[in-house]
Amino acid sequence: MILILHADTDKNGDDYRQLMAFLSNLGNIQTRVHDEVGTQQVLTEIYLVGDTAALSIEDMQGFTCVERVVRISEEYRILGRHHDDKRATFFDYNGVRFGQDNLHVFAGLCAVDTPEHVEVMMKALQEHGQQCTRMGAYKPRTNPYSFQGHGKSCLPWVFELAGKYGIKVIAMEVTHDTHVREIHEALESTGHPTGVMLQIGTRNTQNFELLKSIGREPDFPVLLKRGFGITLEESLNAAEYLASEGNRRVVFGLRGMKTNMGDPHRNFIDFAHVPVVHRLTRMPVCIDPSHSVGTREATHEGIMDVFHVTAQGVIAGANMVLVDFHPQPSKALVDGPQALHMDELGYFLEDIRIARDAYEQRVTLARQQKKDSASG
Ligand code: PEP
Ligand code: MN
Repeated sequence: MILILHADTDKNGDDYRQLMAFLSNLGNIQTRVHDEVGTQQVLTEIYLVGDTAALSIEDMQGFTCVERVVRISEEYRILGRHHDDKRATFFDYNGVRFGQDNLHVFAGLCAVDTPEHVEVMMKALQEHGQQCTRMGAYKPRTNPYSFQGHGKSCLPWVFELAGKYGIKVIAMEVTHDTHVREIHEALESTGHPTGVMLQIGTRNTQNFELLKSIGREPDFPVLLKRGFGITLEESLNAAEYLASEGNRRVVFGLRGMKTNMGDPHRNFIDFAHVPVVHRLTRMPVCIDPSHSVGTREATHEGIMDVFHVTAQGVIAGANMVLVDFHPQPSKALVDGPQALHMDELGYFLEDIRIARDAYEQRVTLARQQKKDSASG
């Protein structure tokens, strides 16, 4: 059960104290208080965990600080959408809103290599009105002898270049707590010119200790990639690990499944799950067409498979597109063959706009259908 309190409830007020005293006298129930500190107000939710079936909603609503009571099912307690659940499906980070109702493109380098390449990318993004990017500093590789990423040494100049070109959020994979600390330190030493969305890659989706420690990390939102060989339910539970430890600013990333059923694509595209994740949870949903498709093959009309699958995800309501670009793909240290080229950025963004417009028209049509069937 979740008690949603009125915004800006005074924790020293009588009513709040009485509520907490009442809750502490309930047997077999633990309470966990979560404050969501927004720019305008503080929203407090109290999670009641344990034998809550016998608790009465009316008793809880008797406290004036309680605005609403939500009975939750067992699954995805915090990030899930529950019956009659009107909790937010968005969060704000560094001035950017991430929600189930909007869309951001994170075009950038799979792996940071040279300052020149990073600068070309950031400059192009600014010219195209973008404020987000992807930049891999820590690269988990299949082969131990492959390039492992520049790690912490590149962070200061990557962050400074982001600041120079107005980039507000960089998606960056981390595989260990120390990486989060290094990101913190580099942001601190450069004066926070940008923000970071920590990315947990598909190889770590069920690294529960990493999930728990990043869940306790209050400063950064997280992009959690779906595990490439586990069920959707298992990956959504992994996201819930982050939230259960306190970090609920989570975006869920679809990146394809590893099976040769997906050949000739690198992974089997799973973007039909965009609306499913929207239905089951309150998380914004990201698609990663680059790691799903893995090539630059195109159809007879001249449309690359990467563009096609992006459009499929966006027309189904995707909220974030993570995509590899590179100024000189033949020199890229990781994933060059799947990278889009700089002169393709404008066309890619325009193709996304077309698909997003179509999605919005579909939403309008669905609303009309609902209205017609209610009145007819
Ligand atoms: C990536 O986005 O760079 C990446 C390695 O993705 P994934 O974890 O989905 O393979
Ligand atoms: Mn990659």
